[in-house]
Amino acid sequence: MQHRIPVAVNLFAKGMGGIPPDCLGCLSQAESVEHVFLKCHLAKDIWRAVSLWTGCDVTSFESVSQLVQVADEPTTVSGRRVLKAIIFVSLWLIWKQRNVRTFRHRSLSSEAVMEETMINLYGWIKNRSTLKDSVWLDWVKSPIYVMG
Ligand SMILES: [Zn+2]
Repeated sequence: MQHRIPVAVNLFAKGMGGIPPDCLGCLSQAESVEHVFLKCHLAKDIWRAVSLWTGCDVTSFESVSQLVQVADEPTTVSGRRVLKAIIFVSLWLIWKQRNVRTFRHRSLSSEAVMEETMINLYGWIKNRSTLKDSVWLDWVKSPIYVMG
C-alpha cells in the first residue's frame, strides 16, 4: 500500500535501471504495484476466483488500499476478518507467484494460487481462532458465511 515493494517500476525509480520495467507475466505493461496485484491478467484471474468463492466482488479496484477496504462489506465482525485474511493471503500469493515467475522462470496457474489460498487459510483460521468446528467442504463453498 506504501509502494515500497520491489516491483520493477519502484526499483527503476530508485536508480536500479538495469531491471526491465515490464511485467514478466504479460510482457505488455510496466510492472507497477497496481499492475502486479490488480491489473495483470494473472491477478485478475485470482480476484475473479476470490469474488466467486467469497460472494464479495473484489475485481474492480484501482489501488491495493481500496481493495483492502472492501473487507468492511460482510455484516459480521468475523466475516470481515475472514475476508480481510483472504485478501491479504491472496496478495501474498500473487507476490509469490510473481517471484516464482521472475526468479525461477516458472509460472504458477491461478488455480494453483487459489488452491494454496484456500488450503493455507483454512488451516490457519481453524487452528488459530475460535472457529475450530468449521468443515473443509463448507469452507470451500462459502468461507465468509461458514467462518463468519
Ligand atoms: Zn502483467
